[in-house]
Amino acid sequence: MQKKRVVLNFPPHLIDQAVTYRLIKDYDLMINILRARITPKEQGRLVIEITGRRPSLDAGITYLKELGVEIQPLAQDVKWAEERCTHCTACISVCPTKALDVDRKSMVVSFNRDKCIACELCLPVCPYQAMEILF
Ligand code: SF4
Ligand code: SF4
Repeated sequence: MQKKRVVLNFPPHLIDQAVTYRLIKDYDLMINILRARITPKEQGRLVIEITGRRPSLDAGITYLKELGVEIQPLAQDVKWAEERCTHCTACISVCPTKALDVDRKSMVVSFNRDKCIACELCLPVCPYQAMEILF
């Protein structure tokens, strides 16, 4: 089983279509919706985690692309400004996936974007605005 976290951008004419249902039913994929919103230009943005066998994942992604849905890896939309981080560790206890973690010996904080689910819990606790979620 493979897992991918991606951001889907839907053009206005696709917003009301049962795209995630088709991914589940026709492509045998598990879909976990992490975030969903409609932008002011009425485009849909969906952050999802897709789990399935590799051929199913590839087929599902091809289906989305052919439909006109733009796909990008979630990691592109999450930024950690390392130069602003003071390693204060305020974010460590709120991060549910350990995407933000601290080495207990050196007390150096690190960010693993592959673990991030864009939940935004770290944003209000960071005194230096070192985390940015671009949605
Ligand atoms: S957005 Fe959520 S998962 Fe990502 S680093 Fe912040 S708290 Fe952790
Ligand atoms: S709260 Fe902000 S400054 Fe403090 S460790 Fe986390 S990212 Fe760095």
